[in-house]
Amino acid sequence: MKVNGACACGAITIEAEADPEKTQVCHCTDCQTATGTTFRVSLPVPGATLKVNGKPKTYIKTTAESGRPRVQAFCGQCGSPLYSTSPGEGVQDAYVLRVGILRQRDQLTPRRQIWWRSAQPWVTQLAAVPKHEKQG
Ligand SMILES: [Zn+2]
Ligand SMILES: [Zn+2]
Repeated sequence: MKVNGACACGAITIEAEADPEKTQVCHCTDCQTATGTTFRVSLPVPGATLKVNGKPKTYIKTTAESGRPRVQAFCGQCGSPLYSTSPGEGVQDAYVLRVGILRQRDQLTPRRQIWWRSAQPWVTQLAAVPKHEKQG
């Protein structure tokens, strides 16, 4: 399916062709820190299908568990995380988009969860937490 979206301030837009079945949740502690929340929802896309308008800022994060360096891209104006990829010149084979920036996120249901061992224990209990339709 085609996916597209933008960062929170709109300075950067992204589109790509993705397989929604590849949507996944990562509970690793790096993702908890980098998102400022509890887990990250991501969708890998082929680099050949990715179009980015605007210029993301990037930094290299060496993954705590694997020791692999990953390029992390975000909007330099608003800070929205955009994607990660492998270091190197030019277009990479694969990019992992952050599902929260995509307009189709309601159709991107995670199909697997990784780094479950560092998941926060309450994530399975959210259904029992009192809910408010708006801010409450
Ligand atoms: Zn932005
Ligand atoms: Zn992670």
